[in-house]
Amino acid sequence: LHMRPQSLLNKLIRSNLVNTTNQVEVLQRDPTSPLYSVKSFEELRLKPQLLQGVYAMGFNRPSKIQETALPMMLAEPPQNLIAQSQSGTGKTAAFVLAMLSHVDPENKWPQCLCVSPTYELALQTGKVIEQMGKFYPEVQLVYAIRGNKLERGTKLQEQVVIGTPGTVLDWCQKLKFIDPRKIKVFVLDEADVMIATQGHQDQSIRIQRMLPKTCQMLLFSATFEDTVWNFAKRIVPDPNIIKLKREEETLDTIKQYYVICNSKEEKFQALCNIYGAITIAQAMIFCHTRKTAGWLAGELSREGHQVALLSGEMQVEQRAAVIERFRDGKEKVLVTTNVCARGIDVEQVSVVINFDLPVDKDGNPDNETYLHRIGRTGRFGKRGLAINMVDSRFSMNILDRIQEHFNKKIEKLDTDDLDEIE
Ligand code: ADP
Repeated sequence: LHMRPQSLLNKLIRSNLVNTTNQVEVLQRDPTSPLYSVKSFEELRLKPQLLQGVYAMGFNRPSKIQETALPMMLAEPPQNLIAQSQSGTGKTAAFVLAMLSHVDPENKWPQCLCVSPTYELALQTGKVIEQMGKFYPEVQLVYAIRGNKLERGTKLQEQVVIGTPGTVLDWCQKLKFIDPRKIKVFVLDEADVMIATQGHQDQSIRIQRMLPKTCQMLLFSATFEDTVWNFAKRIVPDPNIIKLKREEETLDTIKQYYVICNSKEEKFQALCNIYGAITIAQAMIFCHTRKTAGWLAGELSREGHQVALLSGEMQVEQRAAVIERFRDGKEKVLVTTNVCARGIDVEQVSVVINFDLPVDKDGNPDNETYLHRIGRTGRFGKRGLAINMVDSRFSMNILDRIQEHFNKKIEKLDTDDLDEIE
């Protein structure tokens, strides 16, 4: 099993649309049919109530992935879709719009069913449905999540159901609150997070099997490994496929430094020396182990600095809360481990400290992590600063190899004389 909590974290903390200049890759089920893409929401001929909802949410025009995904999802007859793009690119808004467009408000039974991997995500997506449907009050929503207990024999009148797989399955099968044969649109969100949770994959497949052949199947994921892909193909027959690559990261706008120390304690001292300079902006500090991260956060607190600690032993929701506070600027410094923060997008960080340099399990430089951690996407990236702490010949060698790999000079920094870093 691949754990993908990062996708979940990114989703929980995302508040803005991610900009991208990359083009979507499209694989059509029927390659001879014309490929439509729209540049405005008007072109989609949405119900006026929904268009009003879209504009009330502050959306002016479709995001990159929505340009292609929306016409496909709204086409007649309905088309199935598998779509992959990083968190924040507009997938949720797209499928919510598709669900609401396909509802017949006269019919008082569930017609659209969306499953999310966690309770929190179901709530979050439910909120988007409520917001977008604000001017369409005939359409009602119900949450199929733990804690929502209905009387036996209930037949749901709400047209849209959002929930987690276990509860949704119960409501369809055991409790019969939902008649799955009447579902017209089925959405499976955050497929990568879904399959990382024991049992969810099975439950999702069992739900899918109860749906009619004519039901539109839509699946979304932030990442696409083989395991996700295999699962997607079982959920979505005859799919159209849309992928949107992440923006490439570069080191071009980053100033890179290193500091020579002799021990963990000296690294801490060096860090204290530059602390004032780095907290002008927001900083992330990476350590190799949980133990070091915990120790460092403790030492910094003892010095009177207010820092946040993000660690692998925390629950996903706890981690999301920490990142959210940091993103909102409640703490200026976040201490974390190499593993824990991999793949997490915190855009406004402009200072990165490698308290330990990133190495892979064989002790070789982990260039990819180094780049992802300090790199910025070319067009939108602000200038940034990276400081690497070197405490042995071993780590000096790692630094040299990173420098060579990217062919970008990493300058020596004297932390007793800080005029160099502006
Ligand atoms: P994803 O599901 O890919 O993570 P979301 O649909 O949650 O992305 O969108 C990410 C953020 O961008 C949300 O805050 C959402 O309200 C906003 N958003 C989505 N579509 C648009 C759009 N077309 N224009 C402006 N903002 C958008």
